[in-house]
Amino acid sequence: MQVFGAVEQDGHERILFAQDAESGLKAIIAVHSTVLGPALGGTRFYPYECEEDALADALRLSRAMTRKNAAAGLDHGGGKGVIIGDPRTVKSERLLRAYGRAVESLGGAYVTAEDVGTTIADMEVIARETGYVTGASSDTGGSGDPSPVTARGLMAAMRGTARFLWGSTDLSGRHVAIQGVGKVGGAYARLLAACGAHLTIADVNEKALQALAQEVGGDVAAPDAIHATECDVFAPCALGGALNPETIPDLRCAAIVGSANNQLAEDELDADLAARDILYVPDFIVNAGGVINLAEEVGHEYRLERANRRVDGIEATVIELLERARESGGTPLDEAVALADRRISEVGGLHARVSRPPRTGSGAR
Ligand code: NAD
Repeated sequence: MQVFGAVEQDGHERILFAQDAESGLKAIIAVHSTVLGPALGGTRFYPYECEEDALADALRLSRAMTRKNAAAGLDHGGGKGVIIGDPRTVKSERLLRAYGRAVESLGGAYVTAEDVGTTIADMEVIARETGYVTGASSDTGGSGDPSPVTARGLMAAMRGTARFLWGSTDLSGRHVAIQGVGKVGGAYARLLAACGAHLTIADVNEKALQALAQEVGGDVAAPDAIHATECDVFAPCALGGALNPETIPDLRCAAIVGSANNQLAEDELDADLAARDILYVPDFIVNAGGVINLAEEVGHEYRLERANRRVDGIEATVIELLERARESGGTPLDEAVALADRRISEVGGLHARVSRPPRTGSGAR
């Protein structure tokens, strides 16, 4: 197996393979970049079919975190951990603590958080072995569930989009179609409804869908038809790949502002959206509230008000990106990538925070 060949192209700084025979831990931590500061990104616990798939995911996700953290103006690089296995059957205290030791061994180059397959409670177990962990519950000094803050960031992105498209941040009477009303999509729906927006919502979880529809009003659509709703804004808030060659021709919206990661099946598809006059506001700008919130735990005591203030800044970022795209003739995605690159070249290498644990007293030290 050619190890360096696999990572050469993206320039990952470090990749750690960690195992613990007794608990069955097999984990990969990919540190893509610490140029802006400690690499920050969650730990995904997933039953990968093979080790190559797990490595590919860790490399891809950590690279994406470098972009997201840089564009959000954070003093953090990009990293991601993956644990191989089905979290429902193999997760144990020993396994999570062994993983915590692996995080600790990187000496602060990587700071972890929850992701698919890991929970706030898991972060607290990991924190028994390392201070380099964020996203523990608020009663232990952590930032807790990031979803409400992520949804707040979506509203900021929505206001920026509305001002750019319609000259006003007033969302009353605007029609938003939300695909997936889980933790983020559900909170987004409530915030939009409170602003007088008209909603159409869809979810594969019929019970949760009906309960939310009762609460916020509006219409319900089938999960495989929601993207075709005629609306002002389509909001993919479920899984990645919602914008693909099959769904894009059906879209009947003016803009896309949703929380799901990797909404475009391929980055190049943003040109198809632009050709159809649909404004795609890049997912990693719109959903950065989650990681902005986590970053507020690093190096000082967490304060929700400070996190909220930074998250509200997404509105100005979105306006700036959309205006730049209009001037340059590029897409908002081009401009968002350029924003991340500019930040790395302007302030990269100036930080001195790699060895500082997120919260005093939270971990093993
Ligand atoms: P969640 O699991 O709470 O919600 C996802 C919802 O989508 C669930 O209700 C699920 O039933 C539904 N769903 C799944 N497949 C669907 C389909 N085909 N059609 C319609 N609905 C479907 O997850 P979440 O935390 O709300 O995250 C949603 C998305 O936002 C994910 O892509 C996540 O990576 C991204 N994100 C979340 C956060 C956060 O703070 N939670 C931060 C950044 C990005």
